[in-house]
Amino acid sequence: MRIKQHYPLFINGQYVESSNGEVFETINPATEEVIATVAKATKEDVDHAVEAARAAFESGKWPKMTAAKRGRLLNQIANLMRERFDDFVYAEVLNSGKTVDAAKGQILQAIEDFEFYAAAAITLQGDTNQVPNGFFNYTVKEPVGVCGQIIPWNYPLMMAAWKVAPALAAGCTVVLKPASYTPITAYMLAEICQEAGVPDGVVNVITGSGSEIGPYMIEHPGIDKVAFTGETETGKDIMRRASGTLKRVTLELGGKSPNIVFDDCDIEAAVNGSLYGIFYNTGQSCEARSRLFVHEAIYDEFMEKFLEKASRIRVGNPFEKGVHMGAVISRSHQQVIDSYVKLAVEEGGEVLYGGKIPEGEEFEKGYWYMPTVIGNVKNDMRVAQEEIFGPVVVVMKFRDEEEVIQQANETIFGLGSAVWTKDHGRAHRVASRIRAGIVMVNSPISAFPGTPFGGYKQSGFGRELALETLNLYTETKSVVSYIGSKPLNLFGI
Ligand code: NAD
Ligand code: MN
Repeated sequence: MRIKQHYPLFINGQYVESSNGEVFETINPATEEVIATVAKATKEDVDHAVEAARAAFESGKWPKMTAAKRGRLLNQIANLMRERFDDFVYAEVLNSGKTVDAAKGQILQAIEDFEFYAAAAITLQGDTNQVPNGFFNYTVKEPVGVCGQIIPWNYPLMMAAWKVAPALAAGCTVVLKPASYTPITAYMLAEICQEAGVPDGVVNVITGSGSEIGPYMIEHPGIDKVAFTGETETGKDIMRRASGTLKRVTLELGGKSPNIVFDDCDIEAAVNGSLYGIFYNTGQSCEARSRLFVHEAIYDEFMEKFLEKASRIRVGNPFEKGVHMGAVISRSHQQVIDSYVKLAVEEGGEVLYGGKIPEGEEFEKGYWYMPTVIGNVKNDMRVAQEEIFGPVVVVMKFRDEEEVIQQANETIFGLGSAVWTKDHGRAHRVASRIRAGIVMVNSPISAFPGTPFGGYKQSGFGRELALETLNLYTETKSVVSYIGSKPLNLFGI
């Protein structure tokens, strides 16, 4: 038994049931089996979690602890996570349906995020500024306070780490709400924080209906900052609601990232990278490169190789070695993906591969979708403009650099992008003109501890994973003193 049968809420260092005793079931999307029950928080429970986080903040235990000591505790969290690496991988695969390889990479990164922010904690700096003679000014970075952190289901532990690690490093306290589909690893993390010696109340985890307790958290006067990762539409709702208390807000939202393959690229590398760029994590990636632009001169050759390799992607039991794509998160999400494929066909697209639920006994239970490639697409079609968040890539042919830059930018989103070319000048020329927070050059991956991750346009604002993220968990206090020898009497009275 490597996960518990039941997860209560984690508030003020203790496991507590929800105030009305309600629970919900969390399942394995690859088998539809119930794997645990989880407490379903009420608004009253949110109040308790916020009170605990507020008390831990106000007591000064955490924000006033030296940054070096907070850093040591973050390292200790990372150490304990490493010790339980296999348990985390197991829980994440079981609860999300992602493959073991995907889970391993994400858990490892979550650990490295804690190590990165452990070291970064002591780098928070103020400065001194030029002020008139007789004055002296310095600034201090102070933690912003209690942070409400709301995360999605696609990278459960990694998203928790991207949020909790910098908040703790900066001296904030946290109420974390994982997605209802994937709550388990967030609770495992909370337990480890406590074991590492983080004071009670600094990290609280609650689960419950996102549409009920989510808005309540956003409007809660006891929360100073909201850090959210999820859909663009949810982000808009959050921004509206946060205005009532003028909360600090950072939003990491959806994407429809372009993947641009020039005729002077290394075709083999571009095929492999483009395949991974969309089908990694079963396409359920915010930075999934879901719009594939291929130069007309290599279109046929590229597509032949791309489709051949797509046909070799193995979908199946995510625990099995050699499987590339696990399950999608839910039945309703599977249906959304499928309805986008039908829409693509209605819009004039052509299914070049996949486009359906895989057949066979092993797919009778669970939520599956085949890797899907859609050709004959125009950039203004809905399937090229809306985030599908599944294993579906739309392919378009282009003629020249200018045209593809324009098309790449014709989207409300601006999260990821990728360019495949051997021409150094072109790579960086294109990179400078793409309106997106991330540009991958000849690379299928981009997220490392230390590299800023976040969006332009309606993909949100704020950055995660980076040093600058720490600043987003602080306020700047400016202290101005008069140090002249003659006392000031500005009214001259
Ligand atoms: P979602 O917006 O449906 O839900 C995200 C979280 O918000 C969940 O915990 C949910 O319970 C909660 N929630 C739902 N309604 C709420 C409300 N009105 N107020 C407050 N909280 C609410 O997102 P999802 O389906 O869990 O995740 C998929 C989305 O996340 C995709 O759009 C993906 O691109 C995005 N994403 C972005 C990044 C990034 O770094 N930019 C990373 C991962 C995922
Ligand atoms: Mn959703």
